[in-house]
Amino acid sequence: MPLPNSWPINFPIMTGKPPPLAIYIHWPYCTRICPYCDFNVYKSKGEDIDLVQAILTDLKGWREWSGPRHLNSIHFGGGTPSLLAPEEILTIVNKIKGLWGLPNGTEIALEANPIDADERKWSGYCDAGINRLSLGVQTFNEFALKTLGRDHDSKQALSALKLASYIFPSVSADIIFGWAGQTLNDLNLDIERILESDVKHISTYQLTIEPGTAFAKAETRGQVRAVDTDVSADFFEVIMDRLQQAGFGHYEVSNFAKSGHNSSHNLAYWRGYDYVGVGPGAHGRLVVEGKRVSTIAALTPAQYCGSVSKTGMGISDKETLSAEEWSEEYVLMGLRIDEGVSLSKYAEIRGKKMERSRFAPLIEEGLLSLNDNELRATQKGRFLLNAVTDALLV
Ligand code: SF4
Repeated sequence: MPLPNSWPINFPIMTGKPPPLAIYIHWPYCTRICPYCDFNVYKSKGEDIDLVQAILTDLKGWREWSGPRHLNSIHFGGGTPSLLAPEEILTIVNKIKGLWGLPNGTEIALEANPIDADERKWSGYCDAGINRLSLGVQTFNEFALKTLGRDHDSKQALSALKLASYIFPSVSADIIFGWAGQTLNDLNLDIERILESDVKHISTYQLTIEPGTAFAKAETRGQVRAVDTDVSADFFEVIMDRLQQAGFGHYEVSNFAKSGHNSSHNLAYWRGYDYVGVGPGAHGRLVVEGKRVSTIAALTPAQYCGSVSKTGMGISDKETLSAEEWSEEYVLMGLRIDEGVSLSKYAEIRGKKMERSRFAPLIEEGLLSLNDNELRATQKGRFLLNAVTDALLV
């Protein structure tokens, strides 16, 4: 059953009702650390009781700060939140329900690894309220799965996809492209296999070598881990054409969905809604008395739990954004999605209209389009998004 995206794009951002609220829960543990990963992750040692308790207390602190809000979505991300037991997920979902309420049809998503596929456990997640599973498939190529340090093989990925589609109303798969040695034929095989499964949403990630990762160290030793950026760009064109041909809407730069299966939670970030960020290192945004506040939680599990027991919240840094910073963030995020940005919403945030001279040349170059009030990046513009936003926000 497709889930509704729960709020129209043109909600009043500062006046009238406050924006809807999305809730992100960061579970930072993984059974092992993948060599390309630069997320805030830690090797699991099985001691998660304090962290669940700290997250529950932190949520209460956020509710006191946010006041009552329309709940947009709940997202368990990481790390590997599929290491949590269904009972722990239920405890957190019930806590959120008690604090903000849980409207019918609210998207509650959880990220999982194929190796964690287990009918009993996943049915338990479903009973706890999870209605969308995001599966870290990455690729079906055995060689690439090994070099990417993944702990599953292609058979496990396929059976996890099958089980997920049987249990959850909506299933998303992550695909990585651009790993060293990948050929066009390898890419096409990955795309066709993912299309043969019943996933309704596909997130695509270009492999990039991030500083501080094991892949970055390997590259300094002369070992190539990713294809060059021109090849990656060609690969992405192939992905885009094939997924669109297969009926997936390209609703965000890297994300594709069948009708009714867009990620409501990620749309909250791109549309400029508010979001609670609980768990180590999680980021948040909250509009308070007409100002947008950006937050970041304490980084390590120990620091996070320490902050919660001292202050009742996990936040370690809090900053009020200027109107300029807020409006820039709104444009940077909004141009990623096919809905684009609302110029009236921009003016409301910034306190003045965006000058026509800023976007008119980009429209002439075919990088942006304007439809009444909505400014959108064209397909060509999405390929050059960094340059487009740089030109727009000078
Ligand atoms: S499982 Fe995901 S979050 Fe964990 S280390 Fe690997 S890529 Fe990072």
